[in-house]
Amino acid sequence: MALTCKQCGSDILTPTDDQPWARCANCQAVLSLTGAEGSTDLAQAGAFLPPGMSLRRLSDGLQITYNWFNPSYFGLAFMALVWTGAIIGGFNSLGWWLLIVPHFWVGLGMGAVALINLINRTRITVTPDQLSIVHFPIPFPLYRRFDPILLKQLYVKEVKHQHKSSVSYTYDLYVTTWSGRNHKLVTKIKAAHLALALEKEIERFLGIKDQSMPGEFRWLSERENRQLWQAWHGLAKALSLKFDPGPFLEKSTVAGVYRGYHLQVDAFYSSQHRRACTRIQLAPASPPLEASPLLTPEDLPDLPLSSQQILSLLTSGGIPREKGAQIEVSADAQKIYYEHPQLSADVEQLRGLCDMMVNLAEGYAKLRAIGAEAVPTLEALAAKPEHLLNGAVRQLMQDIAADTTTRVGHQPDSFYCRRCLTRCAAHSGQVTLIKTVTYYGCRTCRQSQALLEWPGPVIAVLDSRMTEKWVAQAGTVRVNWLLHRSLFDFEAVEIVQASDEDIERFAVQVGNDTDPLRKPDYELMTCRIGLTCHLSENSLRVLRSIFGSVERGPLLADVSETATDDRREIEDQEQSVSGSIAAS
Ligand SMILES: [Zn+2]
Ligand SMILES: [Zn+2]
Ligand SMILES: [Zn+2]
Repeated sequence: MALTCKQCGSDILTPTDDQPWARCANCQAVLSLTGAEGSTDLAQAGAFLPPGMSLRRLSDGLQITYNWFNPSYFGLAFMALVWTGAIIGGFNSLGWWLLIVPHFWVGLGMGAVALINLINRTRITVTPDQLSIVHFPIPFPLYRRFDPILLKQLYVKEVKHQHKSSVSYTYDLYVTTWSGRNHKLVTKIKAAHLALALEKEIERFLGIKDQSMPGEFRWLSERENRQLWQAWHGLAKALSLKFDPGPFLEKSTVAGVYRGYHLQVDAFYSSQHRRACTRIQLAPASPPLEASPLLTPEDLPDLPLSSQQILSLLTSGGIPREKGAQIEVSADAQKIYYEHPQLSADVEQLRGLCDMMVNLAEGYAKLRAIGAEAVPTLEALAAKPEHLLNGAVRQLMQDIAADTTTRVGHQPDSFYCRRCLTRCAAHSGQVTLIKTVTYYGCRTCRQSQALLEWPGPVIAVLDSRMTEKWVAQAGTVRVNWLLHRSLFDFEAVEIVQASDEDIERFAVQVGNDTDPLRKPDYELMTCRIGLTCHLSENSLRVLRSIFGSVERGPLLADVSETATDDRREIEDQEQSVSGSIAAS
């Protein structure tokens, strides 16, 4: 597709990758391609942002927000609180003279620094006309604006801060303009990977080809460079991925679709450990399902899953053993991060790690579909903060809670478990010491993947001629106890045709039912007996001792099988039979 520059009229080549902007080679003007062919999938562009950073597509641009949250400032915040608290305590004696006490202002300053590092965020907005940077809610230090046309290249520099014996590092994002001037775009970024991700996203959006700049932050040694070059080539070949060498090896990636997932492997600088590490990131290649699909009854195992079976789904491919390895999972596993604590240049090891991560993603998706039944097992892992899968499991519990609440939470009473025919109920799961989630599943076995939606009353039917497990009829659901053979949630009983042995067995189950919700209802329940069903006096006595009232038909089954003319006769007969029950 031929494009012409609006500014100078020269021809512009359409970018080959899915980028919504083209840049004129002649005058460097940026041209928006939105609405034109090749509109971008930004979900993909933003799929591999580091935690703490978010990317949003605007109608005419891009917005990147990252938060400064640094938990190490909690200490300072606490100190500032105690310090100023103590000084304000002296307000009574000092009065307004307090304001000239330097200690008061020191305390206030400490508080401000702590607050900035805990709650502040930086928002970078890029449109074809301007690149602006704001810090909020506490404005710090100044509001900045640039014209994207002037920007030639972005790069990151490391800044060393020495305070007596302690050394710390922050990262500044610089921009070079076409006139050769350098400006600081964002300063004091706490982690290198945040700064590098900012650089990458802005460059990608503006169509600036990343180039090496003098003084730019590099972190690989010569030896690591040589090893990595080999490893990346080997891995790309082994998994049919694409090796992108970038301007230098620190910024190179191996990426592509592998086993149904977008996979990206790169070297990453861990500011925390101050060394190069390997990072694997993945995202599902197909869009997520709205809600987990319900299973057909054949798919649902008869017995609940054991916790071993549940755990093996998460760890089927093994989990990395290295100390300091980290796994992070975003909501619904749309992104999975793995941080390997060292730089790996071993193709076999890298390959194994990639497979492990895909296995984890697959297991996660299966457990999310299994749902509520898995939560009690997951709770045990959520209580182990040192476990590598702790964060993933806590996210999974929240995903299951959200999914079951959407599907069942509005009316748990009208959903019945296919396995137990028990109604769904709210359960509570412990995500952390102070955080619980509410999820929904069968009251008895907790499963939530195969549910029946039955709004009407449920009748327990004992009918030797009934062949279905259950049927929905005239606003009720009739469940065949003779086939189900165990208790479930029902509101009434109908005995159409059953032997005395069946009645005895049924009565024993009901009599021994310990379910706290069902138990009190039996003595208020009606048990109707069909006109053609002949039961012994003993069976009738047992039924009367359990249920509130026991009466003779006609039952739905009798009425539908009998011609209209005969109905009068049945009703007459019924009166005499129910009379005889009452008399006995
Ligand atoms: Zn131009
Ligand atoms: Zn750059
Ligand atoms: Zn159940």
